[in-house]
Amino acid sequence: MSKNLILVLNCGSSSLKGAVLDNDSGEVLLSCLGEKLTTPDAYITFKKDGQKHRVELADRHDHTGAVGALLDELKKYGLDADVKAVGHRVVHGGEKYSASVLINDEVIAQLEACIPLAPLHNPANLTGIRAAQAIFAGLPNVAVFDTAFHQTMPEHAYTYAVPRALYKKYAFRRYGFHGTSFRFVAPEAARIIGKDVKDCRLVIAHLGNGASITAVKNGESQDTSMGFTPLEGLVMGTRSGDVDAGIYPFLAANAGMSVEEVSDLLNKKSGLLGISELSNDCRIVEEAAAEGHEGAKLAMAVTAYRLAKYIAAMAVAAGGIDALVFTGGIGENSDAVRAQTVAHLAFLGLKLDEQANVDVRFGKEGIISPKGQTPAVVVVPTNEELMIAHDTAALSGL
Ligand code: ADP
Repeated sequence: MSKNLILVLNCGSSSLKGAVLDNDSGEVLLSCLGEKLTTPDAYITFKKDGQKHRVELADRHDHTGAVGALLDELKKYGLDADVKAVGHRVVHGGEKYSASVLINDEVIAQLEACIPLAPLHNPANLTGIRAAQAIFAGLPNVAVFDTAFHQTMPEHAYTYAVPRALYKKYAFRRYGFHGTSFRFVAPEAARIIGKDVKDCRLVIAHLGNGASITAVKNGESQDTSMGFTPLEGLVMGTRSGDVDAGIYPFLAANAGMSVEEVSDLLNKKSGLLGISELSNDCRIVEEAAAEGHEGAKLAMAVTAYRLAKYIAAMAVAAGGIDALVFTGGIGENSDAVRAQTVAHLAFLGLKLDEQANVDVRFGKEGIISPKGQTPAVVVVPTNEELMIAHDTAALSGL
């Protein structure tokens, strides 16, 4: 029997992450990661049934070549004809898109118009769309936006206190990201605490290499920590999160740095990496902190404290809190980050059950606060690919 398989693509400027999902069961049948694309060293790694193998892309080293190699791989397993649609993770939909959309020429023109808002990401996403259109000719393509879920934020949450002209002329406002993850996690968390997401106040922390936190009230985003770009908010792997904008003129005057250099410093050399002077990887920082490394201990402390402050702030945005939810690589796996963060929040009634905090890791979901404690603290493994596949199938009429 023919299956409804959806190809989910997430393209960066030199990378391509792909997954082929069975839309009915949610099972990932094949995944891939193309790296160093557009260089002579380009290659793609496929993973099927837990086995990995690498294919060099020497003679077809761009994104279209990588998607072509993916099609060849699908043919090997006789799966190519079952792929019915392609879903694309698109970083920025501006104010135009508050939901996923079937891609046509007008949508492509809109995505091009959004390039100034996401100058690194949107061009890469467009490259992925064009590659899929060329290689999987005739299949429907759907764009699923990181920003869309946050379009319900009220004006007072998304407005920066800068001259209004900047909003009117450049659409300079807060947008927020990780929306697909929050949209997946919110109803899962509500289910776990036995509530309807439409009648529930959630504060959800998505903590991965990038990290952001969102207040979700009755299923809708009310506020989120990332802003015009993914730089604002929490301490991340290499991003500073909130920092005084005065650092730009200060470093220009005192270190002779350009705008690009300061931006690079805040996006790529800060966060866990910058404070610990060791690594952007939370696992490494956490282990070093446990062994007494001063930089790593400070990095963990700043991360947890900033996160706790944001949790309290997001409780304001949600009008209260029924559950604090952790997701993303760090949120799902780091009992240490969860414990250090929640330790600041006893005044809100937030507490952890120490054993549950250790037990609910590595792909498990569940409540990690003591039985009957409100607000609850919950862990939900995110699944952005499944969300993208479901949207893609629905908009493709599958
Ligand atoms: P991305 O944002 O790239 O999708 P992930 O959501 O996969 O990232 O999160 C990656 C982060 O999760 C890394 O900092 C990694 O160290 C952290 N992480 C994964 N497993 C653990 C663990 N067992 N303990 C602490 N941190 C972990």
